[in-house]
Order: sequence, then structure tokens, then C-alpha cells
Amino acid sequence: MFKVLFALALTLGIAAEAQAQSEMLLSDVTIVDVIEGTLAPGQSVLIRDGLIAEVGPDISAASATRLDGAGRYLIPGLWDSHVHIFSSASEPDTALPLYLINGITGIRDMGALWPIAEQQALQARIESGEVLGPRLILAGAWVDASPGSWPGMFLADTPDEARSVVDRIAAEGWAAVKAYSMLDEASYLALAEAAHDVGLPFVGHIPERVALGTAIDAGQEGMEHFGRVAMACSTAEEAMLDELRAAMAEGAELDRVFEIMASRNRIILETWDETLCDAMLARMAEAGMHVSPTLVVADFYTGNWPAADAPRMRMIPAEVREAWGEPDFRLEAMTDEVRALAQDSIALDRRTFLMAHWAGVPILASSDASFANPYLFHGFSLLDELNLYVAIGLTPREALYTATVAPPRFFGLPDQDGTITPGRRADLVLLDANPLEGLATLRRPQMVVVGGQVLNRAALDGLEATLLERGQ
Ligand SMILES: [Zn+2]
Repeated sequence: MFKVLFALALTLGIAAEAQAQSEMLLSDVTIVDVIEGTLAPGQSVLIRDGLIAEVGPDISAASATRLDGAGRYLIPGLWDSHVHIFSSASEPDTALPLYLINGITGIRDMGALWPIAEQQALQARIESGEVLGPRLILAGAWVDASPGSWPGMFLADTPDEARSVVDRIAAEGWAAVKAYSMLDEASYLALAEAAHDVGLPFVGHIPERVALGTAIDAGQEGMEHFGRVAMACSTAEEAMLDELRAAMAEGAELDRVFEIMASRNRIILETWDETLCDAMLARMAEAGMHVSPTLVVADFYTGNWPAADAPRMRMIPAEVREAWGEPDFRLEAMTDEVRALAQDSIALDRRTFLMAHWAGVPILASSDASFANPYLFHGFSLLDELNLYVAIGLTPREALYTATVAPPRFFGLPDQDGTITPGRRADLVLLDANPLEGLATLRRPQMVVVGGQVLNRAALDGLEATLLERGQ
């Protein structure tokens, strides 16, 4: 059904080489503390059996392979907390190396077209080191009202259906329950309760007929995308929700439903209220509701696409590039009004995002990269997203925190917390320059360590060359 064989061929040589180094000592490196924003120069890091074994100025490890890190900076590996790598049979073959060459050693998949068993099989191959790739969290159990916004979704049109869907999701071994846009409020609330009953995090879209405050009260722990935050800062949020509820209760055609949703952008711009926004963001922060903003998605809607000969384009399979060049249903659904207001809407989202950050709303850096989402690139788009955070007003340290510290803590990983300390999984990125002074250095890591497997610059160049060759 799916092809990991190519991924194996692509990575086997490097994996074999990496496995030969069961112990590796990286010496004389400057460790970046992303929590405190401090630097510890002259440190050595001993990596053994996939874990950080020791950290300190003097480590003797006679049998270890030694690597000189003088003049370089070491950070925890990056996470992209919202991606889709299973939208075609061969997507992981491209996605996994693209993440690694960009220093991303962990990803959370948020919606997939592959059967869960096949996703888990790839996850196991990555964990064992048989396939080289980032740590993978399978959180793509998306639940929508019928007929479903995407093929293969779980469907729930009543509270009872919501509860039985959660039982299936738990039995299949997903890492979370993900709400989707068209759920009605009663089914959504039942879904939240059932997810918590089985001990799964409840994450996803805020459904189009549910208020953000309702989602906070329902205990939704993670929220995907950012538009609904700006909408909750509008004095007309409830009126906008009511209009859609009434239309759908009357059995409105889909065209009418989309028209109502498209009209929200203008209303939000006219009714966004700073005081209301402060109050809403304080509630989110207090509840600890994590947001995966995917701000970089705006580039797709505004046509801010890379040139055809940009390296990132040339690393994508030709058939995917061709599909991206076809008319897209999401762009065609944009009304003239939405297009005319796009820059204002983006500016308001960004202003609200900075307020959310200042209010203490926890942020998980995320891109929505997928072959099914044109011009959103595995790997590259997460670095674009981090650059956006800095452009909007976060410091480089704060932006890094959303990709290194916040994700593993939110996912509850026992062996990862965004620190470089003994006992933690060896997911690391070695950089040429101090990232606390600017994130440009992330674009060209000198070394990436994933689960203890070492990719030096030559190995990363090799992955790039293979991707370029395949993309021709
Ligand atoms: Zn997505």
C-alpha cells in the first residue's frame, strides 16, 4: 500500500554509518538554554544509545567518536506541531529528509489519509532507526460532521456518535482526538467529554458553530490555526455563530454556508475590540489552551509563493509541483471582499497573536505543511513561521521556545523537555552562530542529531542532493 522502501534506500547509508557510532562525544560546544536565554560555553555532550548521557566541561570517554564543536552553538531539535505527511502514498519519502535538513527532529501529524496501522508501522521504523526521520506523533484522528471536510475522517453527527468515535480512536492508538470545523455544538461537547474520559488530549479546530469561550470551558487543550482567536475578540462573535447555526438548521446549501463564513472577515475587522480581546486571551492563558498558529498559511492565500527554481520547490516531486499549479478550491472559494481585506485581516491576526503571546497563551510553532496544502513546505515552512514570530515582535529566544520547549512538554514526552541535560533524548542541532541573536543560522545546521543518529554537514548535503535529484 505504501512505499517506505524509497525512504530506506535514501537513508540506509547514513543510518548504518550513524549506528556504528554507539557513543559520540561532541566537545567544546556552546550550549544554548532556550528557557533562560543563557549560553554555556566550553561544554561537552556525550551521546550514548540515543540519549544524552553526560554534559559538562570535562568528560572522558575513550571509546567515543569525537566531534569538535568549537565555535558552534547547540540547541534542542525543533518541533513542527502541525503537519500532514500522509496525504499521498510516498509523501514521507520527501517529508522526512526535508524535516531533518531543516533541523526539525519532531513532528505532530494532524490528519492523514493513510490507515493508522501503516502510520504506526512507519513510526516504529523511525523509532528503531531503520528509517531516518523526525520523532512522529500521530494526532490526526480528526472528527467532523458528515460527510466530512476531507476523505477518511471520523464522523459524528450526534453526541452518541461522538462517544463511540472516541472509543474507536482510543482503541486504534491515536495520541489525541482532533475536533474539526463542521461539528455541531452538542456533538462537539460530547466529543470533548469522551476524549477526557478515555484520557486523550482534546485538540483541533474550534468548530464554526462553537464559541472560543465554549471550547475553553469544554477543556480543549490545543487549538489549531489562529483566525478563531481574532474572531473571539469581536463583539459580534455570538451573532456570527448564530447566523451560521440558523442557516445550517434550515438546511442551507454549502455555498450559502461558505458565504456566511467568508463574510466574517469584514465583520471581525469592524468589531474587533481590544478590551474584549485582553479578557479572552487571559482566559485562554489561564486555561493553558495551547495554540498552533500556522500563520505562514497566509502566504498561500496571498500568492506569496516561491519561484519555480527555488531549491525548496526543486526538492518536491514534480507531480506535486504540478498539482500545486492547478486551480485550488480554497483560492476559488475566496470572495472579492475576502481578497480585498486580506492584508488587513492578516495584520489583525498578527496583532492579536502578539497580544496572545504577551498574555501568556502557550504557543506551539506549526506550519500546516503538506503536499495537500500548496506552497507549504515540510521543514522550510516551520523556519518561515519562526521568522514571522520574530517579525511580529517575539525575541528569537521566545520563538525558539515555541519549537523546542513548549511542544515536548505539551505532548507529555517523558524523555524530552527542551533542555540539553542527561537522560534526555539526543535530538540536537549544531549551529554556526548564536540563535538568540537571530534565527538565520537555523537555515544551515552544521549537524543534526535525531534519536542519537548523527547527520553531519556532509550527510545533510547528501540528503539535499538526493532530494534535488528526485525532484527533477
Ligand atoms: Zn492542517
